[in-house]
Amino acid sequence: MKIALMMFLSMVATTAFAGGVSSTISAYNLNKVRPQTIFTITSTSSESLKDFLLNNVRPALRSFTDKTLFEGCGEVAFNASTKQYSVMLFSNKSHLACVIDPNAVAPGFKSMNVTIHSHGGNGQFAMNRADRVFTGMVNDPRSLMMGGENLEHFSPTDFQGGAGFLATPTTVRFQNGADTECDIKVAACAANF
Ligand SMILES: [Zn+2]
Repeated sequence: MKIALMMFLSMVATTAFAGGVSSTISAYNLNKVRPQTIFTITSTSSESLKDFLLNNVRPALRSFTDKTLFEGCGEVAFNASTKQYSVMLFSNKSHLACVIDPNAVAPGFKSMNVTIHSHGGNGQFAMNRADRVFTGMVNDPRSLMMGGENLEHFSPTDFQGGAGFLATPTTVRFQNGADTECDIKVAACAANF
């Protein structure tokens, strides 16, 4: 099973934070932060993928994240019979990571090999249990604060995780490798979708 881990790497280290952030996660660690379903969103059959992501998925994902400061994520899927798009959204209750299972799609839908996720909050936060599991600091007894994420742009790790969309406070961005970030409101961006 391919596991794409969306994790923000460029955390601003505070006085209490001294560890490195790993961009990979073991099955052992994944077991400790089981993803929870937020909800599933499905397009109408006439809606384009870009409209669906901008008008339906983005507000839903950002609303969840703005309330919780947790990242949310999901695999984008398509149903060839009904011509509908769908995203099952998950959260690991972490401020800095969200694990996507490409097989977690609604019945009848097929993965499009592209993901969407949101970045948590832009202010400092206290590392919770899930954050500690993802960063390998679960046994660190200190009270740890971390700097916030950039809500508008992909993180360095995102560019290594395969094609993906990012739901931001203002738009949806797309990337498929380093230096390819673009705003999907621009026609040439994510043109294959
Ligand atoms: Zn990210």
